Amino acid sequence: MNQKIFLCSICNINSGTCNEDCKFCSQSVRYKADIERYKQKEMSLILKEAHNAYSNGALGFCLVTSDKGLNDKTLSFVCSIAEVLTKELPELRLIACNGTATIEQLLTLKSSGIKAYNHNLETSRDFYPKICTTHPWDERYETCQNVNSAGLVLISGGIFGLGESYEDRVSMLKSLESLKPTSVPINFYHHNEALELSPNPLSVDEALSLIKLTREMIPDAQRVMVAGGRELMFGDRESEIFSHGANSIVIGNYLTTSGKAMQRDLEMLKSLNLDIASSVK
Ligand code: SF4
Repeated sequence: MNQKIFLCSICNINSGTCNEDCKFCSQSVRYKADIERYKQKEMSLILKEAHNAYSNGALGFCLVTSDKGLNDKTLSFVCSIAEVLTKELPELRLIACNGTATIEQLLTLKSSGIKAYNHNLETSRDFYPKICTTHPWDERYETCQNVNSAGLVLISGGIFGLGESYEDRVSMLKSLESLKPTSVPINFYHHNEALELSPNPLSVDEALSLIKLTREMIPDAQRVMVAGGRELMFGDRESEIFSHGANSIVIGNYLTTSGKAMQRDLEMLKSLNLDIASSVK
C-alpha cells in the first residue's frame, strides 16, 4: 500500500436536484433538506475550486452531479468542464461521479479528459432495498463493471452507519473486492434532521475497525479513502484513521456538508509526519 496520502477534492457541479429516494441523501428532492440546490455550477466557480484544491495538494478533483445517472445534457456538461480543466490544470486527475452510466457514456467522458469514475455500491445487495426503492443495487454494480470495461480507473466504496448489520458490511466489502477498485471511498453517515434515517450509531472504535476491515478485505486497492463524515465520526481521534489503513482523504467541503478548511488538514498530516502524494499511477 502506498503510504503517501492521496488528497482528493470534490466539486458539486449540480446540487440537490435528484428524484431518487436514497434515505441517506440530502440531495434527494423528496426530503426537503435545507441545502443549496442548483442545476449547473458556473465554470468560473469550478475553475476557482480546482485551482484552490490543486494549490492545497489535491491530485484528484471529482465532478459530482446529483441524479440517478447520466443523460445527454449532464454528459455534455461534464465533458465541457473536463475539457476546460484538462487544458487549465493538466496535472489534476479528473474524476467523474455522475451515477449510473453505460460503457458508451463512460467512453465519452474518457475522451474528454476524465481519468476515473466514482460509483459507490453504498451498502450490501440485501440491505440496499431498505435504503433505496427507486433503483436497484444491481444497476450500481453494473455501472462499476462498465467503468472497468471502459478502461477508466474505478473508484467504488460505500457508506457505513445506515442501520446495516455487520454481515451487510462484510457483504458490501466482498462485492467491492470482486470489482477490483483502485480506490475505495468509505463514508460515515452524517445525519440530517430532514432525513428519516436514525443517526449513525457507530462508535469511533467501530468506525476505525471498519477502515481496517476495508483495508484487509480489499488488499489490492491502492487507496482506502475516508470521505464524507470524517470530522463528525472521528472528532479529535481522526488522525487514527491513517494507522487503521486509510491513505486518502477528501479535503475541503463535501457535497452538502462542510469539511474542515484544507489548511487544517494539511497541518494535521504534517503533525503526523505523513507525506502527501504528488503523483498518481
Ligand atoms: S441517486 Fe445519488 S444523488 Fe440521488 S438520492 Fe441517491 S445518492 Fe442522492
